[in-house]
Amino acid sequence: MELKHIIKEELKWWPFSNKKLTNQEIEDLIKSKIKDVNVKYIDFNGDEKNGIIQVNERIVDNIKNTFNGLYNIGFRINNIEPSNGRDDKELINQNITSCFNYRRAITPTGLGKLSKHAWGLAWDINPKVNPAEPNCGMDFQYGCEFGVLKPKEIDIIKSNGFNWGGEIFKSFYDSHHFEVPFTSEELKIQNSFKIDEHNIKNIIKEVLNEGRKEDVYDKYLPHQLKFGTDMPSVSTFLLSIIEDISNHIGHFGNNKYLDWSVGQLLELLNNDEYTHLDIPQMRDIVVKNVTDFHDNLKRFNDRLFDEINLYEKLPISYLANEEKIKKSPKDINSYPNLTTLKFITDIAKTITTKSEVKKLEADKIYEDNNVLIVSPKSHRASCYYGAKTKWCTTSTDTQHFQNYTNTGVLIYIINKHPITIGEHYQKIAIYIPDINSNGILSNLGDDDNYEVYNSLDEDITFEWHEWLWEDYWEHWNLIQKYFNKEWRQKYVN
Ligand SMILES: [Zn+2]
Repeated sequence: MELKHIIKEELKWWPFSNKKLTNQEIEDLIKSKIKDVNVKYIDFNGDEKNGIIQVNERIVDNIKNTFNGLYNIGFRINNIEPSNGRDDKELINQNITSCFNYRRAITPTGLGKLSKHAWGLAWDINPKVNPAEPNCGMDFQYGCEFGVLKPKEIDIIKSNGFNWGGEIFKSFYDSHHFEVPFTSEELKIQNSFKIDEHNIKNIIKEVLNEGRKEDVYDKYLPHQLKFGTDMPSVSTFLLSIIEDISNHIGHFGNNKYLDWSVGQLLELLNNDEYTHLDIPQMRDIVVKNVTDFHDNLKRFNDRLFDEINLYEKLPISYLANEEKIKKSPKDINSYPNLTTLKFITDIAKTITTKSEVKKLEADKIYEDNNVLIVSPKSHRASCYYGAKTKWCTTSTDTQHFQNYTNTGVLIYIINKHPITIGEHYQKIAIYIPDINSNGILSNLGDDDNYEVYNSLDEDITFEWHEWLWEDYWEHWNLIQKYFNKEWRQKYVN
């Protein structure tokens, strides 16, 4: 069967809505409907016995009539007794005929929805000698003398209102199993039964730790096919989610976000605020947020938390996990939920990385091992290159920078090594107002055409060229060339 089809079947069982009853309330409700029915039967030794079979009250008559019918044709039954909490394997190995058994459906994870046995609406007869195929690891006994169902017995049971496990499941032949369909009321309750999310997460973790998703898939899917679609399986559903999410974000390095993402999808599924969404829509929410996070990781830098501190009200989900997030902001597992991840990612998106500032927001005029000459084109770039100076163009108020650059060119000369005349001259700012009608910056020394400041924002226009570094003539030529050609072409008309 196609995976898509299986998933569609599985989804019927997922608790999308109707969360009125707790699991405990469901259990109490179901158990209140279970009745002991005394039936007569002939055991494998040919002796007449009485047994108790516990069933849902609405099938009491069907059960009575069925066992009467089997008794009348002399069909032998090994032993009929209540399951008393024994698991399915035990009941099979002891060849016990029973109905009610408050348990989850048998799935690879064992965490699925309630079994129909839990409702007292399904029962198994001589399970050890009537095998299920594929046999899912149980120790069946083939070709036995007594208790094997033949068409005659099956017809009697079916005529009393039961569907046979040898016929109802698409890819699973369960010859000892009979059941009745749910009523719509029962189905609602069944669908409101909540799966064990905590355990599922652990299983996902385990599964993911074991290897890549292909391995997970190979490992679990064949089991699901064995069990058939009557047994609602969380594992198949999870696999489909894993598959689906992996298709979207798996390329981000060996599925490193998969575990977290699947967990978040489960959160959404169990969140009342999202009940109006279908699973692909929920998937999209998770994928979008994780993708955003991944794409902006380079912005999760030192400035991130400065930005966060500017917020007056921080979400509680952030505050509760602040320490963890501050310690490892790039680890998705630091984030308790999508809300927090989105909150931080949105802030990170406003942060420009250093390389972006360098590339996009400044013209590099010259650089060698000793000096860097740039013209900042944004306030951010100005702050970046003008760090640790007193220049007003680097203050938090962006207005100064704008005023300067609206009317001319700012150029920063950054000495990479300590210079002999002192640290105040480590960075020099040159401002060239665009006052020359022909757009040509005159020779160095024509001081009317520019202003020069040291790191303390002291005007050194009239002295700077007399004692600065030896290459300044060369540098000045480059600045002139930049102003007269590149800057003019790029920014004027
Ligand atoms: Zn069964």
